[in-house]
Amino acid sequence: MHISNKQRKPDIIIIGAGIIGLSIAYHILEADPKVSITILEKEKMLGLGSTGIGTGSIRHRFSSSLPRRLSLLSRGFFLNFEDVFETPIEYSEKGGLMLATHPALWDQCKLTAEQAEADGIPMKLLEQEELLTKFPYLDRDRLLGGTFCPWDAYADPYAVLAALYAGIRRKGATVEFGREATKVISDGDRVKGVQTRQGTILSPFIVNATGPYASQLAATAGIELPVQPFRRQVYVCTNPIDIPPANPLMIDLATGFYLHQEVSAKTVLLGGTDQYTWPGFGEEVDKSVAEDFFLAAIEIIPSAIDIKWLRTYTGICEQTPDFLPIIGEAPDLNGFILANGFSGHGFMHAPAAGSIVADLILKGRTEQIDLKLVHPDRFDKVLILES
Ligand SMILES: Cc1cc2nc3c(=O)[nH]c(=O)nc-3n(C[C@H](O)[C@H](O)[C@H](O)COP(=O)(O)OP(=O)(O)OC[C@H]3O[C@@H](n4cnc5c(N)ncnc54)[C@H](O)[C@@H]3O)c2cc1C
Repeated sequence: MHISNKQRKPDIIIIGAGIIGLSIAYHILEADPKVSITILEKEKMLGLGSTGIGTGSIRHRFSSSLPRRLSLLSRGFFLNFEDVFETPIEYSEKGGLMLATHPALWDQCKLTAEQAEADGIPMKLLEQEELLTKFPYLDRDRLLGGTFCPWDAYADPYAVLAALYAGIRRKGATVEFGREATKVISDGDRVKGVQTRQGTILSPFIVNATGPYASQLAATAGIELPVQPFRRQVYVCTNPIDIPPANPLMIDLATGFYLHQEVSAKTVLLGGTDQYTWPGFGEEVDKSVAEDFFLAAIEIIPSAIDIKWLRTYTGICEQTPDFLPIIGEAPDLNGFILANGFSGHGFMHAPAAGSIVADLILKGRTEQIDLKLVHPDRFDKVLILES
């Protein structure tokens, strides 16, 4: 096989072919088609990381401004995706409902509705009566109100990933499956390349887009990154009888419980922030915590008592201590770019992340967000380890 110079020494190596890595490649090549990019993926096929297992929610209601900004920056990409990539991704703006069950959360709803509107995101505050008139299947006795965002949406994560993969290959990127990056190598304070079992590849820019494995990869360069893997369980159930098709995504702010309807409307996905999970890569299903999920469901939607639990699957999420991502150049290691720790929002924020990293690599700066909020050095734990 003839190996060109660009394959031996690409301008940029991206490690990880999940939604973040592919979005970064796409945005770089959109801005500058001449850049040579090699993506290394340890698995033998696409979609085996977090992205393939994700539930595809895209939302805009967050209590801090940074994730709202990332959602805003990402929306156009999803809206235009099917035209640009000529591929269906089941994108549908079915709206999102955040529910408050006690006064402090209701106050929070009022505040975030104001903040979202100020940011240009439509967010309707629904008082109890209006909420229950619009969504009569919710529990009348528990809910005080909520917010509704008509821009919240669903898209099929695997379809997006596959279309991006085809798109970046058409633009000339090389994706090497079954090629794990075993070490990021440096020369003084600058990255030099990546070691793999199949040999070393040199490049002046290495992007860490390894999802839940971000801290493991960073550690090979002597960098401690506070990104931890957490298991998330998803319960696939029959649809509660009184919930109509194309129902909005619903999240109970008190428990983190969510109900997410599949596009077919034949099943719903239930899940939430699993209180009993701990950092690790274990993906086994823990049925002992299911009762909590179903109790949380019934408290919000009483008719959920009659749904049938069909199956449970798990996936691993990459989480930072403040639930905000890490985007930027690693402290003291020039050319090592981090795009990690999206804390359960990596699918919806991948377009923004890709565009911001493209700015950082091609222009050395970005005006899209305040980089201090996502900079790796905001955590005390980001340390350069003695080697
Ligand atoms: C159950 C579940 C539901 C979710 N639902 C949503 C949702 O509704 N909306 C949303 O926005 N987000 C959701 N998320 C989060 C979202 O899926 C992730 O934030 C996002 O997929 C992260 O993308 P990524 O590209 O960083 O990681 P990944 O998709 O995991 O990609 C990283 C890739 O790097 C590869 N890799 C790792 N180490 C190496 C190495 N050393 N060398 C080479 N390759 C390597 C991996 O094999 C993997 O393919 C969910 C996550 C889970 C688990």
